Amino acid sequence: MTKQLAAEINDTRVLAAMSHIPREQFVPRENRYLAYEDGPLPIGYEQTISQPYIIALMTEALELKGNEKVLEIGTGSGYQTAILAELADTVISVERVPALAESAREVLGSLGYENIEIYIAEETLGWPERAPYDAIMVTAGAPDIPVDLLSQLSIDGRMVIPAGSRYVQELYKVTRQKDKNRVEKLGGCRFVALIGKGAWEN
Ligand code: SAH
Repeated sequence: MTKQLAAEINDTRVLAAMSHIPREQFVPRENRYLAYEDGPLPIGYEQTISQPYIIALMTEALELKGNEKVLEIGTGSGYQTAILAELADTVISVERVPALAESAREVLGSLGYENIEIYIAEETLGWPERAPYDAIMVTAGAPDIPVDLLSQLSIDGRMVIPAGSRYVQELYKVTRQKDKNRVEKLGGCRFVALIGKGAWEN
């Protein structure tokens, strides 16, 4: 685990999950020697596995206690999916690139996770069939906070999402409330684009 992680992340469940999940198994073979650096890495198809510090920050913001149904958008390598699976009851994860979804399924299966469902993204963002979710983690950058995702969040549910331009974003934590949703900023970040209706064009 990097020093920055240990210093700035307080949720010990998040730190424990990240210290025992083998990140190198989610990284292409040629980049494995970099798996424990605190940076993003390419995973093919112009996508990246996120930086560990950002992953920890986003996960902590979801305030998971263990009994939640969580939606993840952007399975990618599946690394973040594994962390969520350790911290919540059920993880529904959606990915646009079928080959990434397939390799994530394989790695997560080989590690023994049984509380993860991975689906190929459809027209509408997220996975409305299984809504509402107690928490939603979006690991690709949106132009705005998509209404279609907010509507899949339960009351008091938390969503973490990067939103801004196509290349740099602000990380937002949105807590759904009956009247006015609460929106907090967690800092700057840089994610690949969230593609789809209500987000960016391919
Ligand atoms: N959490 C992943 C991040 C992968 S990068 C990891 O750490 O490995 C973001 C991913 O979001 C990419 O794999 C991209 O294909 C996917 N993506 C982009 N738009 C999407 C959408 N509308 N629905 C589902 N996945 C999407």
